[in-house]
Amino acid sequence: MSRETCYRCFWPKTLCWCPSISPMATRTRFVFLMHPKEYKQEKAATGRLTHLCLANSELHMGIGFDEHEAVQALIHDPRYFPVLLYPGPDARNLSAGGLTAADLGGRTLLVFLLDSTWSGARKMLRLSPSLQRLPRVMFISSSPSRYVIKQQPQEGCLSTLEATHEMLRALEQSGLDQYPLPDQLLGLFQRMQDFQLRCAADPALAGYCRKAYTPAAVRVPTIGPASRRRRYVPLAPPRTDTSS
Ligand SMILES: [Zn+2]
Repeated sequence: MSRETCYRCFWPKTLCWCPSISPMATRTRFVFLMHPKEYKQEKAATGRLTHLCLANSELHMGIGFDEHEAVQALIHDPRYFPVLLYPGPDARNLSAGGLTAADLGGRTLLVFLLDSTWSGARKMLRLSPSLQRLPRVMFISSSPSRYVIKQQPQEGCLSTLEATHEMLRALEQSGLDQYPLPDQLLGLFQRMQDFQLRCAADPALAGYCRKAYTPAAVRVPTIGPASRRRRYVPLAPPRTDTSS
């Protein structure tokens, strides 16, 4: 198989996801801030595919964003109501009506999502005081993570793709947005996982996967540094970790 890469979805051209993606319109603008380590794990990461599914979204790579021109322009654009998807005691819970059209005051909701592991996300925030100052939003997930490829380090941790899906559901319930293609994100997620499981079983495809996967049921929970490397969008406040 050709090793040429599609520079839109960053998968090999023979496995390109683009023909099966129809970018959907949303009122909310989504901004995916991708940690450079996620970029290197493109075959398992979902942030880029999620971005491709949303017409009103953009993706920027980096760790600190206070000097990032495009991100700063968005934060300071008076047409937007910028928020950060990040859990915590002060986060507005979208699932409980924590954000209303009146709050937005006619502005467009602008949601920043950190596409990284917990430790990566903490570092991104630490290096980006302008993101720290944003109001935070969260939601209550309607279902646990569907991830079977990468075991989630704790319950309530979702991939970027799942988190965006849940967020859109919560926004639709709040009357802040519509969610025209709810099956697309999850369908894509399922197909991506199916492919990666096939890779594990088929040596001819193995070159497209970094390592073989074992079914979640036979895997032991990962603790320690390895679990911190795994990527997910947290939904519960992280335990205090002073090491980063
Ligand atoms: Zn592609």
